[in-house]
Amino acid sequence: KKQRFLGKTAIITGAGSGIGRATAIQMAKEGANVALFDLVNERTSVLEQKLNKLRKDCALAIDVDTSDAGRMEEAVRRTVEHFGGLDIVFANAGINGAVGPIEELSLSDWERTITVNLTGTFLTLKYTIPHLKEKGKGSIIITSSINGNSRFASFGWSPYSTTKAGQVAFAKMAALELAKFKIRVNVICPGAISTNIDESTEFNEDVESIVIPIEFPEGAQPLADGPGKPDNVADLVSFLASDESIHITGAQIVIDGAESLL
Ligand code: NAD
Repeated sequence: KKQRFLGKTAIITGAGSGIGRATAIQMAKEGANVALFDLVNERTSVLEQKLNKLRKDCALAIDVDTSDAGRMEEAVRRTVEHFGGLDIVFANAGINGAVGPIEELSLSDWERTITVNLTGTFLTLKYTIPHLKEKGKGSIIITSSINGNSRFASFGWSPYSTTKAGQVAFAKMAALELAKFKIRVNVICPGAISTNIDESTEFNEDVESIVIPIEFPEGAQPLADGPGKPDNVADLVSFLASDESIHITGAQIVIDGAESLL
């Protein structure tokens, strides 16, 4: 196994489940110290114990809502104090949020998705960038979605897709701003991946006009037999976090088994 992250520290948001969890495990196995940011949940402390057994003191679980500015600032400060610096930031926490026709969504439906997915991403970068600058180098990866691609649309997903497109624009601005500090910023656009993300979908029971498929349709990802796996995405994130991608910044990388080409 490669050891691409020896002596490096990574903050991973949404580390309790799915893509974030798989990435935390991969990075820790390759030598990284990992700060596991997630909402208060048992999953991150169980993961912390598991990783600390793998390698002494390599993991730190922090209960934090990425959209809470004060708590994010504090969580980043604690991480840097604990591990002595910061090299990699994976801004990955996100929710599906409310799904439904625009005129039937409430203002709070809209604001909740924007706040978690977009403001959370902004705050994650805002509070980590100074520490990456201090190192004189760094890699930031943001998780958008194929729904953040301008040519891809899904019925009922306007708040989610708006945040995912916003993350793509935000990543490009950040990449340009930070290039002179040798900090790279890339954004990944996964198609359907088997995670717990469906738990974060808020359906409006009264809405019948939008049909949301419960099952993953056969053949929806021509490259695979079903949806992608968290480890597939973690492989890409590890590549973007490592020096193997040293000349890649501002890139938007689709990882969807050709789902968005159909
Ligand atoms: P997941 O639900 O399995 O994991 C997401 C984690 O983020 C959860 O542990 C959750 O508690 C955490 N989280 C949610 N809101 C948070 C907040 N405000 N602060 C801190 N933590 C928070 O889902 P996943 O599929 O691994 O999602 C990761 C990212 O991938 C999301 O940004 C999602 O939009 C994106 N994505 C997922 C898919 C997919 O099909 N699974 C496709 C495209 C993009």
